[in-house]
Amino acid sequence: MAVLWLEDVGADDVGVVGGKGASLGELIGAGLPVPPGFAVTAGTYREFIEDAGIDEALFDAVDVDPEDSTALREAEATAHELITETPFPDPVREEILESYRSMGSDDDEAFVAVRSSATAEDLPDSSFAGQQETFLNVREADLLRRVKECWASLFTQRAIYYRQQRGFPHENVDIAVVVQRMVDAEKSGVMFTSHPSTGDPQMTIEAAWGLGEAVVSGTVSPDNYVYDRESDSITDITVADKKVEMVKDPDTGETVQLDVDEKRRTERVLSDAEITDLVTLGERVEEHYGTPQDVEWAVFEGDIYMLQSRPITTIREESGERSETVGGDKNGVADDTNNVTGDGGNSSRSENGTDHAEADAGGDDGDVLVGGLGASPGAVSGAVRIVDKLDHLDQVEEGDILVTEMTMPDMVPAMKRAAGIVTDEGGMTSHAAIISRELGVPAVVGTGNGTSVLNDGESITIDGDKGTVRPGADESAEPAEEFEPVEAARPETPVKPMTATEVKVNVSIPEAAERAAATGADGVGLLRIEHMVLSLGKTPERYIADHGARAYQDELIDGIRAVADEFYPRPVRVRTIDAPTDEFRELDGGDGEPVEPNPMLGWRGVRRSLDKPEPFRQELAAFGRLIEMGYDNIEVMFPLVNDAADVEAVKRHLQEAGIDPEDHTWGVMIETPASALLIDELANAGIDFASFGTNDLTQYTLAVDRNNGHVADRFDELHPAVLRLISDTIERCRERGVDTSICGQAGSKPEMVEFLVEQGVSSISANIDAVRDVQHEVKRVEQRLLLDSVR
Ligand code: PEP
Ligand code: MG
Repeated sequence: MAVLWLEDVGADDVGVVGGKGASLGELIGAGLPVPPGFAVTAGTYREFIEDAGIDEALFDAVDVDPEDSTALREAEATAHELITETPFPDPVREEILESYRSMGSDDDEAFVAVRSSATAEDLPDSSFAGQQETFLNVREADLLRRVKECWASLFTQRAIYYRQQRGFPHENVDIAVVVQRMVDAEKSGVMFTSHPSTGDPQMTIEAAWGLGEAVVSGTVSPDNYVYDRESDSITDITVADKKVEMVKDPDTGETVQLDVDEKRRTERVLSDAEITDLVTLGERVEEHYGTPQDVEWAVFEGDIYMLQSRPITTIREESGERSETVGGDKNGVADDTNNVTGDGGNSSRSENGTDHAEADAGGDDGDVLVGGLGASPGAVSGAVRIVDKLDHLDQVEEGDILVTEMTMPDMVPAMKRAAGIVTDEGGMTSHAAIISRELGVPAVVGTGNGTSVLNDGESITIDGDKGTVRPGADESAEPAEEFEPVEAARPETPVKPMTATEVKVNVSIPEAAERAAATGADGVGLLRIEHMVLSLGKTPERYIADHGARAYQDELIDGIRAVADEFYPRPVRVRTIDAPTDEFRELDGGDGEPVEPNPMLGWRGVRRSLDKPEPFRQELAAFGRLIEMGYDNIEVMFPLVNDAADVEAVKRHLQEAGIDPEDHTWGVMIETPASALLIDELANAGIDFASFGTNDLTQYTLAVDRNNGHVADRFDELHPAVLRLISDTIERCRERGVDTSICGQAGSKPEMVEFLVEQGVSSISANIDAVRDVQHEVKRVEQRLLLDSVR
């Protein structure tokens, strides 16, 4: 038989219907309210691959080096193709469809959830949950395809990575698929029947409006209710601002994300009576299994349904033992696991509901666990949340310290939630450093080994000024609930220092626009678009192929406009794309990117744009559309030009895009010694401004790779050779009436600011957090120069 009804299976049937199917069957058997459904058995999958003769090819294809991302991507694609392109045997196909049809009626086709139920998933000693596909609101037309896609999701990059890493043979893992009637939930969430790290009899319920996907995926911050089972009372209620909900579109049956209306956003999702009902159900489930459970639930027409239950795997065996698993702590209650020196473990509950080891457990006096570069200022304490490249970002909760090898564009939502960020790799100009500064999140980057030295759940204090990570929590560094990134950026005195040299700000993510504008900066000296593009997850070429050029332009327009609006009429200098090939290679469609021995010296900036004009044209078209819309504050800047030939070429593109170089302000970055030495030529080509990109100018002048930790101590933007190139260029530009600026990281350093003002630079563009100090420094130097001139 290809399928088994859930009511006919139980806990012993994991091998047949997978962990999810078995657990649902078990719950039905225990009389708990579970929506009806069946499972396409694991044997059906196995027979499918064996009978079709694709099994060997499949297992060969996924036996790859887990650290090789290209190989992982190829493995996933091959497995997907093998499975989805192989037809179902007729009897199997009929049996699945017949079973499905019996769940609906003649005139009412059932909406079902199609969920992977892997035989290795949900086992008591591992937490692979969430790695395989789930499809909601499926009907007959898509059912068979979705079943195959669930099978194929046994071989996602993430799943292959996990198994290869942990030595789990792919051949041993089977997959069943649960097809279950959808509960069109009015509200839903998850429930931990006991405290997820201590095992104490304290239930935590998270609840949001609509379908549970929003909570499980971390799309929405749910309400949080804590119920003490000893005193039988609700001890804590945190009502979140639930901005969105997932619901079924009545026309298409698709799951769509909607904005929650103003009133319900901050309304309590669960009444006391509903909490009590959920607690009763939770106790029954826990009693049934004999271990604390992590339960997904939903409310439909006033009735509570249980969608899934699995054991909580994060509870420590005994106090003081470090938690082994990485998953599960979804409820925002941080783990108070001992710190590395072993003197932690006492926990105190702070107002925001986060457990922290007491101040005397560590803080400033403790040993430094790891050190790196203080990339974004501020000190903060929180629980370590280690995120592998392919791991779940939704594990990162509000108040956690995100610890990762290197941040990537799709980590930004998690970076925003995090109280602090620690990376193994990267320097002051890395993605992690730039983005954390813009978000106002303290960060220590380039620790070398943070992800291996720190332990998930451990309480630490990071200092983003000193670049240190210490054990334990320091009360003075606890994340302030009232921390308002925008307010923090606003100058304290109402009158900002009036300076002749303009002080601007750098922006890389549109989300930082409001914060950047609040600094009172005179404009945006550099708006990078790399983040907007890379966060699409596809190379520009692939994105355009899949969605059309107009859609690509629209994405850029949305991001740029967010910044241009905040600053209008102050000028915003938008730069065309400058991402190295290794970053493009990470994206969907990036397979064909050349593997360059040193991408920093490679195919980036205008070199790439001029060679590959199609995406470049769309960037310029987007800028042109914005100008047409009335954003006359937009200026265009080109990265990594070397000489007049480059500048003439980009100028022709500007003209072709309908942006008249005579009428609109445009210019180039000075990032290579060549461009500095040939500044007269560039001025002749008609540039309005030249902006020093000292991150690159320094690396190319000193031959010091900005991303290479081995030579980081030689990366010196104040090196006399770099300063000579800058001062000569400013002098030439002043003679030619060309504005000069700086938008590299060094523009935030007082020594560089002093030097540039002395040389007569027109503007300085700094990081958000540095704008205020730069304004004061510019003012001080200008006043000194004035005084010197009259003395
Ligand atoms: C620079 O090189 O200084 C610069 C601002 O550009 P990016 O850091 O984006 O290369
Ligand atoms: Mg640069």
